[in-house]
Amino acid sequence: MIKFLDNKLFRYLSVFLFLNSSILPVKSSSALAAWAINTNGVLELRTKSNTNLKAYFQKANQISGDRFWVDFPGELKNPRTIKGNGPIKEIRLGKPDKGKTRLVIEFKEETYLKPLTWKMVGLDQNRWRIKLFKPKYSFKKIGEGLVEKKRGYIKANKDLIHKKKNNYGYLKLPEVKRNKFEVVIDPGHGGPDPGAIGIGGIRETDVVLEVSKIVKNLLSEKGVKVRLTRTNDVDLDLPPRVSIANNTDADIFVSIHANASRGKRRDINGLETFYYRGWRGRLLAKRIQKQILRVSPGSPDRGVKQGRFYVIKNTRMPAVLVEIGFLTGRLDARRLEKITHRKRLAYAIAKGILEYLDKVG
Ligand SMILES: [Zn+2]
Repeated sequence: MIKFLDNKLFRYLSVFLFLNSSILPVKSSSALAAWAINTNGVLELRTKSNTNLKAYFQKANQISGDRFWVDFPGELKNPRTIKGNGPIKEIRLGKPDKGKTRLVIEFKEETYLKPLTWKMVGLDQNRWRIKLFKPKYSFKKIGEGLVEKKRGYIKANKDLIHKKKNNYGYLKLPEVKRNKFEVVIDPGHGGPDPGAIGIGGIRETDVVLEVSKIVKNLLSEKGVKVRLTRTNDVDLDLPPRVSIANNTDADIFVSIHANASRGKRRDINGLETFYYRGWRGRLLAKRIQKQILRVSPGSPDRGVKQGRFYVIKNTRMPAVLVEIGFLTGRLDARRLEKITHRKRLAYAIAKGILEYLDKVG
């Protein structure tokens, strides 16, 4: 098991909470109807029904203190700043982009927050709650509007009660039949072949091995049997990778790679997923591509393509080769060196795989 939280790189924590899949039209007014931070440290929100919220946390830096923010669809009319008290420095309501509303809570420097224990809970279709700090801080309630406003009886939707157990709970992984599926994950390269070498010497072999191991853990937790073609930095030729898959009757084969551009162009970034043949391979590629894009905002979608790579051409089961970004690209490389992003990618790949297994079985 990988101890995620021990990692020293774990300085920036971004918590994505996709609480509901339906999204309001971009042009509508702000979905944030009311908010309040209570004396007990609980932030309460009231939104339009079926709102898709995203919440983030960023540790203090030279410019600002610890910040927690929530993005809502719909544009805010009047951006404003509200003075805080107790542990809270200020609250800002703004529009980071056209058609969006952002509620930012900035904390004072000396607060000791534990964002890893935070969870956003959906109380019903339009009310949310998250505990931000302990009542030991003396704090006077701040808020705007009526959080408790009742609109008649709304049946509590159990799906909305999303309990975030950890920092990577942003992608809820689908359930599949336990002990039914077998997956081969192939971390590209290894040993004397480091694969692509990117900005600052970042090596493909290391990145894809780490991502692959996390994918394995995630799938194993869902009762999927997973075999890695390599578990450390060893040299492994392409034919044995294929025979591992072909000899085990695996349901699918997923080879994980990272890209390099010719001439190491820093402006080339993006994600792509290849399959060799068949609608199953294509569907698997599509599912994975969709999910990895979701966790790589701004990185171009290079698409799902047919490719004649040895490992996907010669494996007998649906097989894909996924390129999780350009190690030579400025945007992708900066992300790929972070454990948090590798974990997000692993989650995304695991999610794509589970969705495929659930659908095709
Ligand atoms: Zn590669």
